[in-house]
Formats: sequence, structure tokens, C-alpha cells
Amino acid sequence: VVEMKNVQKNFGALQVLKGIDLTVDAGEVVAIIGQSGSGKSTALRCLDRLETIEGGELRVCGHALHDRKVDLARLRQDVGIVFQSYNLFPHMTAAENVMLALRLVKKKPFAEARTVAEAVLTRVGLADRMDMYPEQLSGGQQQRVAIARGLALAPKLMLFDEVTSALDPQLTTEVLKVIEQVARDGMTMVLVTHEMDFARKVANRVVYMHKGRVNVDGPASVLDAPPTAELADFLKSA
Ligand code: ATP
Ligand code: MG
Repeated sequence: VVEMKNVQKNFGALQVLKGIDLTVDAGEVVAIIGQSGSGKSTALRCLDRLETIEGGELRVCGHALHDRKVDLARLRQDVGIVFQSYNLFPHMTAAENVMLALRLVKKKPFAEARTVAEAVLTRVGLADRMDMYPEQLSGGQQQRVAIARGLALAPKLMLFDEVTSALDPQLTTEVLKVIEQVARDGMTMVLVTHEMDFARKVANRVVYMHKGRVNVDGPASVLDAPPTAELADFLKSA
């Protein structure tokens, strides 16, 4: 689903990704961890072509993202991304927020969009909140609407960037439960997270990024027996 080969990304003179190699197979759940500034979000954003890369090869769901001619509309149908900030439209209800994506990206007629929106909102535990506005929902509920919006498009790959870091522990737990269920349903995902217990439980693989490079790429057990000094240090402070 994802194939990154020697991917490089600079912001001006700053080399943020210094040659990343990473593959993700269908059905895998990969957790990316690492210190602030190590390039985790940048790496994730490259997968949805929110950043263009300077060097290397990057293929996502059959799209060659190192190629200028990539079809962004089709890429965005295949890849869903959820951020720390939920980016919901405040003047639209939960269902309308989900339906908007379906109508714009998938050109679904109203009734069909409503049916899909109801199904995905039910899946994230919001069956009784569909017609509420974001301000009437808790942060955790808003984040679940954002996840439902991603799921509604039935992507082949879902990306999550620190989706719980703005939430208090109780709301974090309910959002992580939803993501865990989506993972169990077989969705291929890459998630940037600082929740080590969650990574341990849900991820098949853990990628530790250090200063723009992949320092460790292994099974979740690397969290309990870190193979590098850098990861060991990071886990002590995390
Ligand atoms: P955090 O854990 O704090 O979210 P991160 O690992 O996600 O960190 P990135 O957001 O990928 O880190 O940023 C990596 C580096 O790239 C940082 O030094 C950051 O300042 C820089 N950077 C990120 N985005 C931009 C940008 N649009 N323009 C310039 N520099 C940027
Ligand atoms: Mg980040």
C-alpha cells in the first residue's frame, strides 16, 4: 500500500526527511513514534501529498507521488487523513460534515450520502448525536466525527496524526477505542502517536523516527526491548 524509498524532504535549508525507507502492506497498522521535530508529521503528510518530496520514490495505493502528474483527486479517494485538530465545519451538523465529503469527493446523491453518514457515525458510537453541531459535542465526539468523515470515503489507507493529543484522558480513551475497532476491521493505517500503550496494543509495527531518519522499524515488542540506544533514551523520557 505504501512504499517509500530514500524519501527526502527539505524546508528551505532544513533537511527534515533525510532518506526514509518504509513499506506498509495491506492490513498493517504502523505506529510512528519519535521526538518533537523528528519529522513524523512531515512523513505522514507526504503520504497524502500534502507535502511534495525532493528526492526518492514514494508510491501510495498505486499512485506514484514522486511524479508531478499524480492525480490528486483519485489519491484523496484512496487515502484518508485525520489530524489533531478536527477541522469540522461549525455551521454544519455531524451528519452534514460527513455528507459534505461524500458529496464533494464521491459525488454521492443526498439520500445515499445520508445513509452512509448514518452508518459511519453509528460505527464510531455517535448514532444519537448525528444532528448536533460541533459546539454541542465534546472534543472526543468531534474527533470521532472527523474519523467517521474519513471512513465514509472507504479509503484504502487511513493516516492519523496525534489525533488524541488535544484531548483529556477520558476522551482519549474513547477515541482510541474507535481507532482500535477500525484497525480490527482490517483497515490499513499509519498513525503518529505518543500513546505507547496504544501502540503496543494496536500496532503490528513500530517505526521510531530520529532526526529525520528511521532509527528502528520492528514489531511492537521493540517498545519493551529497544534495539537502539536512541529508542531506549526516547522511551525513558516518553
Ligand atoms: P511533533 O512531535 O512536535 O509533532 P514532528 O516529528 O511531527 O514533531 P514535523 O512537524 O514533521 O515534526 O517537523 C519536522 C521539522 O520540520 C521541524 O523542525 C519543523 O519545524 C519543520 N517544519 C515542519 N513543517 C514546516 C514548514 N511548513 N515549513 C518549515 N519548516 C517546517
Ligand atoms: Mg507532528
